[in-house]
Amino acid sequence: MTARIIDGKTVAAALRTQVAARVSALPFRPGLTVVMVGDDRASLTYVRSKDKAAAEAGIDVHTLRLPAETSQKDLTARIAALNADPAVDGILVQLPLPAHIDSIAIVEAIDPAKDVDGFHPVNAGRLASGRATLVPCTPLGVMKLLAHANVPLDGARALVLGRSAIVGRPMAALLLAANATVTLAHSRTRDLPGECRRAEVLILATGRAEMVTGDWIRPGATLIDVGINRRAEGRLVGDAAYDSCAAIAGAITPVPGGVGPMTIACLLENTVVAAERRRG
Ligand code: NDP
Repeated sequence: MTARIIDGKTVAAALRTQVAARVSALPFRPGLTVVMVGDDRASLTYVRSKDKAAAEAGIDVHTLRLPAETSQKDLTARIAALNADPAVDGILVQLPLPAHIDSIAIVEAIDPAKDVDGFHPVNAGRLASGRATLVPCTPLGVMKLLAHANVPLDGARALVLGRSAIVGRPMAALLLAANATVTLAHSRTRDLPGECRRAEVLILATGRAEMVTGDWIRPGATLIDVGINRRAEGRLVGDAAYDSCAAIAGAITPVPGGVGPMTIACLLENTVVAAERRRG
C-alpha cells in the first residue's frame, strides 16, 4: 500500500482564504499582537511567518519585540496593557521564553478571551470539559486535516503519541470530543510499537526524529505527523520515518507541508473567533 498524502499546504491555503473573507465581512479589523522576548532565530522565523499570514488575511498585526533581559514584572505589565487595549483581540506570546521568565505565569496573565493560542488554563479547562472556545492551533489544525481527508473518528481507535500541554493533551481532548476511543501515550508507555499498531488514527507529537517506523503502523491507518525535527545536515523530518510509514499507512501527512501550515492558519481563525466574540 502507498499512503494517500494529506496536503496541509492546500488545506491551510483554503482556510486562510476563508478567514480573509470572514475578516472582510467585519465592520472592524481584528487586532493581533505577537509578543516576542529575545532574539531566538527559530522563534523569529515563526513570528515573521505569523505576521505575514495575519497581514495577508486583513488582520491588524503588531509584533512587540522585547529584549532578552526583560523582567517577569515588565512582561506581565505589557500583557496587562494588551489585555486592557480594546483594539487588541488576540495576544500570542511566542514560546519558549528566556529561562528567567516563568512561562506558565505569563500565559496565565493573558485575558482568556484574547488567548488565541488556547494555552490559558481557563481555555484548557473548557476544552477538557467539552466546552471548547479558543482551542490550541496545532491540534485544531490536525482535526481540520482529518476532516478534510474524510477520516472517520466516531468509534475509531486513536492514539496520540506525546502528552504536552500544547499538542498531545488538547489533541486527545479533541479526538475524544469527536467520539474516538483515545489512547494518550508517552515516554513511559509500555510496548509503544504494539500500542501504535492497534491505532486506526495515529498522531505523532514527540519531537523524536523518525522514531516511528512502518512496522509500528497498522495497515491502512491514518498517520498525522506533528513533529518537526532538523537533522544534522539541515533537513526537516517528522517523528515518522516517512518512506517506511507511507508504505503501510492509508493516509499520511508530510513534513514539511503537513501540520505546520495548518497551525498558522488556525491562529488566524482563532483571532477572528476571539474578535467576533469580544466585539459581539
Ligand atoms: P514536548 O517535548 O513538550 O513533548 C514531547 C512529548 O513526547 C512528551 O509527552 C514526551 O513524553 C513524549 N516523548 C518524547 N520522547 C518519547 C519517546 N521516545 N517515546 C514516547 N514518547 C516520547 O514537545 P511538543 O508537544 O511541544 O512538540 C512535539 C513535536 O511537535 C516537536 O517536534 C515540535 O517541534 C512539534 N510541533 C509542531 C508544531 C507544528 O506546527 N507542526 C507545533 C508545535 C509543536 P513524556 O511526557 O513522558 O516526557
